[in-house]
Amino acid sequence: MPVILAIQFRQLPILRSERSILQENLRMIIDFRSDTVTKPTPGMLDAMMKAKVGDDVFGEDISINELEQITASMFGMEAALFCPSGTMTNQIAIKCHTQPGDEVICDESSHVYQYEGGGIASNSGASVKLLIGDRGRVNSSQVKAAINADDVHKAKSSLVSLENTSNRGGGSCYDFDEIKRLQNLCQENKLAFHLDGARLWNALVAKNETAKQYGEAFDSISVCLSKSLGCPVGSLLLGKTDFIKKARRIRKAFGGGMRQAGFIAAAGIYALENNIERLAIDHEHAKQIAAAIIKKEFVKMVLPVETNIIIFELNNTISAPDLVTKLKTENILGYAIAHNRVRLVLHLDITSEMVSKTIHTINQLT
Ligand SMILES: *Cc1c(COP(=O)(O)O)cnc(C)c1O
Repeated sequence: MPVILAIQFRQLPILRSERSILQENLRMIIDFRSDTVTKPTPGMLDAMMKAKVGDDVFGEDISINELEQITASMFGMEAALFCPSGTMTNQIAIKCHTQPGDEVICDESSHVYQYEGGGIASNSGASVKLLIGDRGRVNSSQVKAAINADDVHKAKSSLVSLENTSNRGGGSCYDFDEIKRLQNLCQENKLAFHLDGARLWNALVAKNETAKQYGEAFDSISVCLSKSLGCPVGSLLLGKTDFIKKARRIRKAFGGGMRQAGFIAAAGIYALENNIERLAIDHEHAKQIAAAIIKKEFVKMVLPVETNIIIFELNNTISAPDLVTKLKTENILGYAIAHNRVRLVLHLDITSEMVSKTIHTINQLT
């Protein structure tokens, strides 16, 4: 930074946050590491500042109650519970649906298994049967074969957990007919059926599906507000009234009972009203960038882009960490998810201008 500019920065009586925004603009960092990196927009901040709040552990936070009601009715489900994270909503659901020693059936790449700190074991004392699905999606015949017989030697199969969209699957979406088959299978075998819908919003927009379809299919659903919907914090767990009552007790035991958290719930209400339809823009941006990536000689393959995530594999001329470092010198941030795989995630804070700059940079790469 030139010296004069630096002095001006020190002299200007501006807020710290404004200064960091200025500094960011000077560098224009294009951050594709995750859709969790978004910062609240002025409209969202305004909604947060105006929130009516109370003590939510006493059930008195008006904004949280409103967010829970809006979300439950969107899905046509009886009740909802606001939680600090998607990990917590998933872990509470698993604990509600299982007893210690039971078995959870899910894809091997599932967030509930891979990225929740071994919580299925430590929080619920349950074991896991991992299936190798198609880009994170399991099918009903795989699950059928994975259900244990009623035999004292075996763990009791009690829960099937799906992920839509699938994160490690590159934002892949389930075919809803398969979900119906899985629902029927779970009902026939008295298994609970949970959906990790951290990015369900993206699937709804990409596949032109409704939240109500999902509410009818699952016993419980987790949705995140802090991913592509652009909220700073927050997830919701949805289910029947009795289930949510039990979940509320577990949330307290997990330390997730919050007080005047209506300020963040208000961001959620704002996001549900304003930030769902625009996900189509992220999906379009992802397709445009993927089209540039696939042309590169150092790229072996790109997973089909269905929503806001691009995952691509490199041939052995460059490693994923090296490519990420190279992009970083151009102020483009990505994430090496394996030695030869890179992930880029589109979100609310990525503008069309940034997408153009990224495509230009990719075209120049050798
Ligand atoms: C991000 C994510 C979650 C929840 O993560 P938190 O950071 O705990 O909110 C759950 N499932 C999937 C598939 C995710 O991508």
